[in-house]
Amino acid sequence: MAHILSGKEVAAALDAATRERTLALAAKGITPTLLIIRVGENPGDLSYERGATRRCEAVGIRCLKTVLPEDAEQDDLLQVIREANADASVHGVLLFRPLPRHMNQALIENALAPAKDVDCMTDLSLAGVFTGKKLGFPPCTPQACMEILDHFGIDCTGKRAVVIGRSLVVGKPAAMMLLKKNATVTVCHTRTKDLAERAREADILIAAAGRAGIVGEGCFREGQIVLDVGINVNEEGKLCGDVDFAAAEPVAEAITPVPGGVGAVTTSVLARHVVEAAENA
Ligand code: NAD
Repeated sequence: MAHILSGKEVAAALDAATRERTLALAAKGITPTLLIIRVGENPGDLSYERGATRRCEAVGIRCLKTVLPEDAEQDDLLQVIREANADASVHGVLLFRPLPRHMNQALIENALAPAKDVDCMTDLSLAGVFTGKKLGFPPCTPQACMEILDHFGIDCTGKRAVVIGRSLVVGKPAAMMLLKKNATVTVCHTRTKDLAERAREADILIAAAGRAGIVGEGCFREGQIVLDVGINVNEEGKLCGDVDFAAAEPVAEAITPVPGGVGAVTTSVLARHVVEAAENA
């Protein structure tokens, strides 16, 4: 029976520390402020927006929102970002992606001032993750995975880590972060052969494919730590991860649940980044 790595527990610890920092800022008359920019009404974005707003406000961060219609002009969005860059009362900006197809996503991502890039959308912030230099903030979700490993005292040194997924938002930065923690890292993707065999080799397995239950029977072994990043909806309409929990739980050493796992920690990492951006400003 796997030990359940509760994201809620990790989030509570992170939030307590962040709250201390917002109080210290408040004493100086500073209210850390996050601007959330959303284009359209994607249900996944709306759900994340609600969770992030609740979490940020609970630790003393002010949340502002700018919502543009799905068919907004690219220049309108660029203007919102430029205004946020120039507004000293805005410390962090979260922009939901992917953007509508008629927009040049790379251009828009890099229009944001790196100092306000609290979820690693600019090339400069990403370069920091890949070079190991502190150039900006790391992406919140893979950072949340690292926070979970740290909180539960899981040492990565010399361990075999396998990441399933190679997106710039989760998979690739997660692999870099695990390397920094001295793990030996394998990255799997849609063209990987023998996914189950690769997964079974892992001491630490991070699933970030966005496919309900693809990490199933045959992917697990004793002693394994399994972090499930996936957020999917199964045939019954229920939220589920990429990991078949029922198959993993009797075998693995420890596992994050969905919901209540990595996702619960992601917004706490976001809140901490906003506060750090406010401190830096
Ligand atoms: P993405 O679609 O950009 O990338 C998915 C990656 O998984 C790709 O690199 C692809 O090669 C790989 N992949 C897809 N199917 C695969 C398969 N069958 N076998 C092996 N590899 C496969 O998605 P993303 O933005 O990286 O997000 C991944 C998942 O994480 C999604 O479910 C998303 O909802 C979730 N997510 C969770 C959080 C959180 O806070 N917990 C945050 C962001 C994303």
